[in-house]
Amino acid sequence: MNIILLGPPGAGKGTQARKLVEERGMIQLSTGDMLRDARTSGTEMGNKVAAIMDAGQLVTDEIVIGLIEEKLEAHPEGGFIFDGFPRTLGQADALGDLLARHGMKLDAVIEMQVDDEALVARINARSTCATCGEGYNDISKPIPADGKCVKCGGTEFKRRADDNEESLRTRLMEYYKKTSPLIGYYWAKGDLKAVDGLGEIDEVSAAIGAILG
Ligand SMILES: [Zn+2]
Repeated sequence: MNIILLGPPGAGKGTQARKLVEERGMIQLSTGDMLRDARTSGTEMGNKVAAIMDAGQLVTDEIVIGLIEEKLEAHPEGGFIFDGFPRTLGQADALGDLLARHGMKLDAVIEMQVDDEALVARINARSTCATCGEGYNDISKPIPADGKCVKCGGTEFKRRADDNEESLRTRLMEYYKKTSPLIGYYWAKGDLKAVDGLGEIDEVSAAIGAILG
């Protein structure tokens, strides 16, 4: 079974992908992780990626597709979760062709639906302990009233720089311009399923589980 997790930044795709890896033994393919792994792999493709990134250039779709192809060849039995890829219609076409060439297909494209305002509220609510990294959330897991981290007793907390509202809005704009057309694309192909991405992690996970069967 091969699936795509689709949704705006902050919708919880990475969290759900990790749960599917733990609970179902699926293989998470996130572009960021693949590029990091490739750099240190020593393969021909890996050296190419390292050279491009070191030169400060953008990694092309062709290269990302090449990296995915290496993974498909290493795991012909499938079981992939695409997380953060495809991001554009062109990439979606290329992924479809690639899977077909390897006798594979997408079994479901799961859209994690979230309300934009809720997403902004959610990202603004996050903080972490500056000492041990324990995560907090003003809504679901507030910093204790005594101001001490539950794990290490630390008293300093920080908000992630890239979690601020302005950068979220920039990433959302990018998502709406380039990625959100994939919702219509996969709907027309008959692959689209939607879950409410705003529930508790376990609720979202149960909804995804019900789709995957
Ligand atoms: Zn702490």
